[in-house]
Parts: sequence; structure tokens; C-alpha cells
Amino acid sequence: MKIEYADRLKRLPPYLFEEIDRAKQRAIEQGRPVIDLGVGDPDRPTPDFIINKLHEASLDPSTHNYALNKGLRILRQGMADWYGSRFIDVGLDPETEVLPLLGSKEGIAHAPLAFIDPGDTVLVPDPGYPPYNSGAIFAGADVQVMPLLEENGFLPDLGSIDKDVAWRCKLMHINYPNNPTGAVCDKEFYEKVVSFAKKYDIIVCADAAYTEISFDGFMPPSFLQVKGAKDVGIEFHSLSKTFNMTGWRVGMAVGNADILAGLAKVKSNIDSGIFTAIQIAAIEALKNADKVKDEMIKLYQQRRDVLLRGLNDAGWEVPCPKATFYIWARVFGEHDSAGLAKDMLEKADIVITPGNGFGRSGEGYVRMALTVDLEKLEEAAQRIKKAFFS
Ligand SMILES: *Cc1c(COP(=O)(O)O)cnc(C)c1O
Repeated sequence: MKIEYADRLKRLPPYLFEEIDRAKQRAIEQGRPVIDLGVGDPDRPTPDFIINKLHEASLDPSTHNYALNKGLRILRQGMADWYGSRFIDVGLDPETEVLPLLGSKEGIAHAPLAFIDPGDTVLVPDPGYPPYNSGAIFAGADVQVMPLLEENGFLPDLGSIDKDVAWRCKLMHINYPNNPTGAVCDKEFYEKVVSFAKKYDIIVCADAAYTEISFDGFMPPSFLQVKGAKDVGIEFHSLSKTFNMTGWRVGMAVGNADILAGLAKVKSNIDSGIFTAIQIAAIEALKNADKVKDEMIKLYQQRRDVLLRGLNDAGWEVPCPKATFYIWARVFGEHDSAGLAKDMLEKADIVITPGNGFGRSGEGYVRMALTVDLEKLEEAAQRIKKAFFS
């Protein structure tokens, strides 16, 4: 029998990282000394105290059954408490304004199913985290991109969005600190988003996965700190990057109760909650967030500085991000994004991510993740100098 895939799968954009993935695999099999700056996954382990809590909780058989779909009340309370202590003016009702997720990716991808009918428009940033686009496609949306351009600080220009598109739009995604560009925004930008959303009746999904990874004293704001934000939107957060817990799958959506109720209804038909022992470990993590944060920021800031110094010394001028563990750099010479990624692997055994894989406006850029240790970053900069600039 010939297997036919549904149109929603055929509508997904081609996976542009395939070629670089294959080339990387070949290089590793050939035993080449590959330095992988491609993956946005923290290299450091989850802190011991969180692992210990998981172990302890998992020994209690009452954690072994199906979890409550809305998560433990004490987890929702812990999430609300963390939000309130981290962000001034964000009070959350743990009953209605906090929804635990199996990592924020699934919440981001599932949200459109609650609000979007075929043909409704969803606005997504370009370049952007792929699930904004794919989740909208699965819901049958007409996806319109908001280009993130360097001249605008990689913020969408809301004023340039076509009025007809805005009126047809039911949901929009924003993401600061931003993957892949490393850009940040201030509260004034969020205020503009709230008035735009109110004017056109648009649900805002703000992705705040990187608010805890910021440098030089900069403290990224939450969308919910802005007046009126809770009338129009929700914010996604995650323990993945903040606590080196990407594999554990625990995150949250917080904010507007009616929006969260819609997302919760979708999820109650798809998943059965987070393993209870992981919920208990997550509470412990959030309670001790301050203990982990300083060391993590120091680690990435040091790495950022070392790689930037090395690249700028080599002759590749690369901007300095205020947040996230990504360097978003313009390609040099005659390269396009894919060409530079390919050459980088062939000539320097370094894996980087071509920017066009995040959307058309990512063309002309590459992303490097600071998820390897200092020595490797120094080595990477030296190899780049030798291969391209001498
Ligand atoms: C890593 C990341 C997340 C977090 O994903 P989880 O599913 O919570 O692990 C969310 N948004 C962006 C933009 C990310 O890069």
C-alpha cells in the first residue's frame, strides 16, 4: 500500500538542516574533531539537588499513576510564586492563570488548535522558532510572517503589517529574548504589542524561554508586566534552558485564564500530564532559582566574551548579544547562509546553523550556540581565523 501523508504534513516547510545534519554525521564518522555550535541544548547537567528530588519523589508509588492534567496544585502555586518573585507586577492565580506543560514547545504548537479555524491568519516572527509556524499549519491557518530585521533591532514592525492581514489575524507569536537572533526587547515594545492586539482582537503568545539567560546586568521583562497584557495573551516559560532540564519536559503557560482554558482543553484530549515526580522536582528547582542563575549566567557570559573576542580578532565582526546563548552573525565574503555552514564544516570542522533554516529573513546570517566549553570556543575561533581570514 502506498502511504499518503495529510496535506498538513505536506504544507510544512522543508527541513533545511537536513544537509548540514548529514554532513555533520559524516564528519563524526570520519573521526574529524568536530566542534558542534549547532544545537541549542545546554551542555551542563541538571543541578544535583533537582536530580535528588526526582529520585526521592520517584520512590513514592503515589507518583507512578496518571498525573492530573492541570498539574499538581503545588506546582501551579510554585510557578505563580516564581513568576511573582522574578517579575514585578505579575500576580497569577494558580487555579486559572497557570498551566503546566510537557515543555513549552508542545504548548506553543498546540495553542492554535484551540483558537484557529481553517483560513484564520496567524502571525509568526521570521526568523523564528519552528513550532510557531508548524503549530499554525496543523490548525489550518494561513501563516503570515513578521520579518525581524537588523535595522529594527530584530523586532517586528507592527505598523507595517497589512491592515487586512491584521483583521484576519487571530493569534500572533512573539519571542524575546529571541531565538535565533539573540535580540531583546523592552516593556515599550510589549506595550505596542498589547495595543496592536487590542485593536485587532489578536491573541498574543509570548515565548519567554530565555528571560533567565541575560548578560551585563540586563533583566529581560515579561510580557505580562505590561498593563492589559493579561487581557490579550499568555506567556510561555520553560525549565529547559533555565535549569538545564531540556530532556525532562516541563514548562508552563501563564496569563489569560480563558486562553489557558482553551489550551488546557486541547491538551486534555492529547496528553495525560507530567510525571508527578518530575513535577515535584520542578517545584524544588523553581524554589531555588536564585541559587542556579548566577553561575549559569557567568558561564555563558564568559563563553560569549571568549568567542566574540576570538571571532572579532580573526576579522569576523560579530555583534554582542544581551541575552540567550546564541550568537547571530552576518555571513562574510560571498557566502550565503547554507554555503557558509557547509564551508565551516568542510574547512574548519565546525557545525553552525544556517539562518535561512529559521525563515527567509534569516538568510544572510548564521547561528552559533554557546553550548560547548571555553577551550572549544577558543579553538573554534582559531580554526575560523586560519580557514577563512589568513
Ligand atoms: C528552547 C526553546 C524553548 C523551550 O522549549 P521546551 O519545549 O520548553 O524545551 C521555547 N522557545 C524557544 C524559542 C526555544 O529556543
